[in-house]
Amino acid sequence: MGVVGHGIVGPDFGCGPRSFVTLWNKIRPQQGKGKPMRDSEGCEIKGQSIKELRVATSPAEAVAMLRSGPGRGCYVAGGTDLIPSREGYDFLVDINQVGLTGLDRTAQGDVIIGATTPLSLIRHHDVIRGFAGGELARLAGQWGQGPERSAATIGGHLCRALPPADLAPVLLTLDALCFIVDEESQESLLLADFFPAPERTILGDRLLAGVVLPGEAASRRCHALEAKGEDAALVQVAVGLDVSEGVITTARIALGALAPVPLRCLLAEDQLAGQKVVDITRDVIEDVAVIAAGESDPVDDHRASAGYRQDQARELTRRLLCRALGESGGPDCGDDGDEGEVA
Ligand SMILES: Cc1cc2nc3c(=O)[nH]c(=O)nc-3n(C[C@H](O)[C@H](O)[C@H](O)COP(=O)(O)OP(=O)(O)OC[C@H]3O[C@@H](n4cnc5c(N)ncnc54)[C@H](O)[C@@H]3O)c2cc1C
Repeated sequence: MGVVGHGIVGPDFGCGPRSFVTLWNKIRPQQGKGKPMRDSEGCEIKGQSIKELRVATSPAEAVAMLRSGPGRGCYVAGGTDLIPSREGYDFLVDINQVGLTGLDRTAQGDVIIGATTPLSLIRHHDVIRGFAGGELARLAGQWGQGPERSAATIGGHLCRALPPADLAPVLLTLDALCFIVDEESQESLLLADFFPAPERTILGDRLLAGVVLPGEAASRRCHALEAKGEDAALVQVAVGLDVSEGVITTARIALGALAPVPLRCLLAEDQLAGQKVVDITRDVIEDVAVIAAGESDPVDDHRASAGYRQDQARELTRRLLCRALGESGGPDCGDDGDEGEVA
């Protein structure tokens, strides 16, 4: 598999490119009848205003289709967010046939994941399972239920830009890059710069073509934990450390659901980078965890107070640092560092 022009051309892994016809059949207007669409309980389906499905066959064509109008259009990949929300678009641009499904490793060791790659494939793929301890694969396997996982794509997941996007914190600790295209140009930028505001991306009408995991992060000790609320994560924390000859050469701490957008804790990371592992005590870990929690800006709502969320952020960061440092000859934190997810 290689990167050709805008597209990632790869072997068929058994998951794609997929047809959008099944989903389209649920939302397409009843042509000629002039009646509102209704669901099985007779309620009017607001998505009836969608008049057209355009199937793009290349990334550039997808962008051109979206830009050509008339009216309000939207890309659709897995459709798991778009279909339930039915935001009344005039047309949809199906991007499942543009050649962005699949993933592979380049000669330099970078891993390229096409934007329309389903989370179910990421979960099982050997390249992802072998990258940075396989934490991204593990999290993809925890995401949603089986049917959603088979439909939902990594591109849709990131472009939806929910503050608790489950995969965002671990991707931040891996220094993931977003590969963005339009009709004439290509751009790559750090995922950390992809979310300017809640539920917003920097894309505009451009297309997210894929996500790149840089080869430098392939051996990073990455771990993630979350505290669950009733329907979504209350707190997400991910930690990634590179240790070379007993020195922490790279430290990454990232939070999700703890600020308007997923974020890296730069102040806390600075406390660790360049330190000898033998100099890191449990007190140092506790201090770094406090700093990381202090960099969060959580909401205070009916699901949990901001104080509770920050306490959880501190505790999860502490556990994750214990775990990652413990693998590199760091301090013994007892059993704490190996505890599972907070319920
Ligand atoms: C039942 C259900 C369960 C869910 N569970 C979870 C969960 O456990 N954890 C979690 O974090 N999230 C969850 N979500 C939300 C989740 O982020 C999305 O459902 C899913 O990842 C979106 O992927 P998709 O391919 O289906 O996107 P789509 O629905 O196809 O698109 C979502 C949005 O992204 C845009 N888009 C898609 N691909 C691109 C692209 N390549 N370039 C530019 N724009 C693009 C679309 O225009 C649309 O605005 C859930 C949603 C549902 C409906």
